[in-house]
Order: sequence, then C-alpha cells, then structure tokens
Amino acid sequence: MKNLNYLLIGLMLITFSIASFGQEGTYTLVIHGGAGNIARENISEEREKEYHDKLNEALAAGEAILAEGGNSLDAVEAAVRILEDSPLFNAGKGAVFNYEGKNELDASIMCGNTMDAGAVAGVTTIRNPISGARKVMENSPHVMLTGKGAEQFCYDQGMDIVDPSYFFDQRRWEQYRNFLRRRQERGALEDNPSLGTVGAVALDMQGNLAAATSTGGMTGKRFGRIGDSPVIGAGTYARNGAGAVSATGHGEFFIKHVVAYDIIAQMLYLDRSIDEAAMLLIHEVLGEMEVNGGVIAVDKDGNISMPFNTTGMFRGYVKSTGETGVMIFE
Ligand code: ASP
Repeated sequence: MKNLNYLLIGLMLITFSIASFGQEGTYTLVIHGGAGNIARENISEEREKEYHDKLNEALAAGEAILAEGGNSLDAVEAAVRILEDSPLFNAGKGAVFNYEGKNELDASIMCGNTMDAGAVAGVTTIRNPISGARKVMENSPHVMLTGKGAEQFCYDQGMDIVDPSYFFDQRRWEQYRNFLRRRQERGALEDNPSLGTVGAVALDMQGNLAAATSTGGMTGKRFGRIGDSPVIGAGTYARNGAGAVSATGHGEFFIKHVVAYDIIAQMLYLDRSIDEAAMLLIHEVLGEMEVNGGVIAVDKDGNISMPFNTTGMFRGYVKSTGETGVMIFE
C-alpha cells in the first residue's frame, strides 16, 4: 500500500512537471519588412492590406513554432522564409536589382544559445537565402559563404535551387529603370535609393534568443557589393541572457557602426535596457548623420524595441501574453 502511494505521488509529480514545462516560459516574436520613407499617400488601401496580411502570416508561422515549445531559431527562419517568398519585400522573390539589373541576395542567422552563426552573401540561385545561412551555420565549419561557393554548398546540401529569373518582379524592375533614369539625369548615385530587407528576432520558452535577416540589398548597388544584413554584429546579432537584433537601413553605415552588436554591448556593459540602447543607435548615432534605418530587438525577458528614423517600417510582433500588432507608419 505504502509503495502504491509513493508510486502515485511519483506519477503526479511527473505529470505536473510535464504539464508545467513550457508554460513557465514566455515567448516573443518580432519581425520587420524594412524601413524607409514610406508615405501613406503612396500606398493604396489594398496594398496596405497586403502588407498587413503578409506580416500577420509570417508572425503566425513563427508563433506556431514558439507556442508548441519549439526553438527561436526555427521560428525566425520560418517567419523570414514567408517574407522572402513574398514579392512585397526586398528579400528573396521581389528583391531589388543591382546596377547590372541582377538580383544578388544576402542573409544571416544567429543562435543566441550557442553563439553559432551562418551567412550567405551575393547569391543568385538559392530560393530561400535564410535557410542557406542556417545550413552554413549548422553543416559547415564556416560562418559566411559568398557567391558561387555558397550556391555550390547549398546545392550539395539538397536545398531548393532556382533559376535567377525566379526572383524577378515587375514592380522592382520599374524601380530599377527609374533609378537608372534618375542617375542619368543627376549623374550620381543616390544616397539611399532603396528600402527593404526582412528580419525576425525571437525569444522561445526555454529562454533562447535568435535573430535572422535577409535582403536584396540596395537598388543599383555595384555587383559584388555586400551590405550589413549578412554581417554578424552589423545586421544580425543574438546572445542569450541579453537580446537579439535584426537591422534594416543603409548597410554601409550599419557595418561601420556595428549596429546590432553595439545594442547588445550597451546592454551587457552599460546595463542599458534594450529600448534605450536601440533608440540611441537609431535616433542619435545614425539619426544625427542622417543615415536611414531601423532595428527590431527583443531582450531575454521578452521586452521589445522597434525604433526607426524614417517615415515608416513594416513591422509586427506577437507575445505569449496574447499581445500582438502589425504596423507600417509611426
Ligand atoms: N540593409 C540593407 C543593405 O544595406 C538594405 C535595407 O535594409 O534596406 O543591404
């Protein structure tokens, strides 16, 4: 009888710990679809709805993983893949064109738990560059592969490889043609002609942080140009116990100011909140130099920050508390 009681108590304890596992932790997912000077009057109601729907779809894909106790790395990859597959955003299908009229894609991903990271840059045939970045992280001894080397590696990994024409989008082509026309008229490259890039940051119920960023770069960029998005520390960074960041904006400056890492370093060494750190970078450091851009960030407790110094940034978030939102303008 006594043994039976012990057995029952034991079973109850096991059941209780299984039931409470995953309920203790909370999760948070934040995504962006790029910052830029997006004027409300230039976006039709229909187009605005398309943006909202796609951002919600990406949030739902990531949240489905987090709500089941899945890991933040899977969640950010799933959310970014949806945005890459949509021609609405400057990543994957619908990426901007470089000066030669080609799409060259960059992406990176980082796991805050292991501090592992992976990136691909200047690729033209990997259907989902973010998944290519993850393969580099998990199945190679390297952090970044570029161009043909990255493509060969992803092909060897059995990834979805497409013809470069897959990324073509008529609307982007027209933007590119306009860019060439304006360039001819003004005789110089514009300072910051594009907006775009997609990204996601997440905290899962086990307390693991992850960040992912993917982009077509900037319209009319020189071929071979690589921006901040695939550069760990500039466009993407994640560190357990601190936070995760994904950036969008004028890549050259984001590299020089090591934006994503700077935000985490302020938290680690100056004890700043994620919002204080992110606001300082975007509004003071970059804002004062008139460098356009924004970041999304989440900290170890699920606090979020989404500052930008442009007129808009496609963005959204969802938390295990049920709080959620999708926004474009301020
Ligand atoms: N950061 C990207 C790049 O410079 C562009 C963007 O976010 O709009 O490649």
